[in-house]
Amino acid sequence: MTDLQINASEALKLAALNESAKDFLLNNPQLFAVLLKAAKRYIGGENLQEAIQTAKKFNSAGLPTSLEFMGESISSTNEANEVTQEFLTLIEAIKKENITSIVSLDLSHIGLAVDKELALDNFKLIAQTAKQSEIDVIISAEGVERTDEIIHTFCKISPDFPNVGLTLQAYLYRTPKDLERILKETQGKIRVVKGAFATPIGHSIGRGDQLDDVYINTVETLLVNNRKCSIATHHDKIQDRVKRLLDKHQTPKTNYEFEMLLGIREDLLNDLKKEGYPCRKYIVYGKEWYLYMCNRIAENPDNIFQAIIDIVM
Ligand SMILES: Cc1cc2nc3c(=O)[nH]c(=O)nc-3n(C[C@H](O)[C@H](O)[C@H](O)COP(=O)(O)OP(=O)(O)OC[C@H]3O[C@@H](n4cnc5c(N)ncnc54)[C@H](O)[C@@H]3O)c2cc1C
Repeated sequence: MTDLQINASEALKLAALNESAKDFLLNNPQLFAVLLKAAKRYIGGENLQEAIQTAKKFNSAGLPTSLEFMGESISSTNEANEVTQEFLTLIEAIKKENITSIVSLDLSHIGLAVDKELALDNFKLIAQTAKQSEIDVIISAEGVERTDEIIHTFCKISPDFPNVGLTLQAYLYRTPKDLERILKETQGKIRVVKGAFATPIGHSIGRGDQLDDVYINTVETLLVNNRKCSIATHHDKIQDRVKRLLDKHQTPKTNYEFEMLLGIREDLLNDLKKEGYPCRKYIVYGKEWYLYMCNRIAENPDNIFQAIIDIVM
């Protein structure tokens, strides 16, 4: 990225976290409608029904999905319970509509920031309902200040729920150690991502060759340990390196998949699918799209031009 792009990216991340800008947007129907046009590229809809239709579309094109009701850092018990109810309804809908999909969620969306026992109880309910319907649930990775609690919750729940998996962020220096524990104490799929959250200095590796190598090592450790994994990246060079690992270890197709976010480098996922690799489309839905959209644009500031096109055309 050029300096200008890096500055634009940082500005967008700050805009995403600006609560007064968000309130202004939500209370201004004209502005809301305009920005929603740009957000639609990245979201599967504003409600469950729309998300199910989007998932059906990708399923018909041969792509399983991962569905997430967007949001995080809920600050009240009532809200956490309402969100939990939404996830239960989502699981029912996946089953009823015969969608090939897993579910992803942030533990802070179902109460982790309020009380860890509340999040654990809510998550058990979701995991149990999903297990009965043979649906996997993957816990997302959040800011590093929550990593201990998220891994602890996963380790606690995993023995009873083989349908529950976890997302690991390759950029955290602590991840190789966490992975050792996870391999010993848990079952379920591990999704490997680079990591999206700003961290305090000394906690994470920046984008570049070193991070790419750590990412590859993390995936290789999972493959040699016969652990199901999702290679969740839009980085073509990493995907190519993973393909070589899959050959080297003769990994069965049931043990891995490439997973990418809706609206980003769709060409890459389609190519991987055509080459015969198992692939999955990650679809978020809901009203909390402002932060999500800003983050997707910030990751690649050229997306701002795409947003202008989406708004105008
Ligand atoms: C399925 C899935 C689940 C995720 N879950 C989490 C999670 O739980 N916690 C978390 O912290 N992060 C999560 N992420 C986000 C992840 O951490 C990265 O921030 C994000 O994937 C961008 O990193 P990258 O691996 O694609 O590589 P990068 O190094 O960021 O980008 C590599 C290349 O990919 C392309 N690219 C990347 N992003 C974009 C974009 N927005 N628009 C266009 N091109 C792009 C560009 O060509 C870029 O050069 C998830 C990502 C995926 C795919």
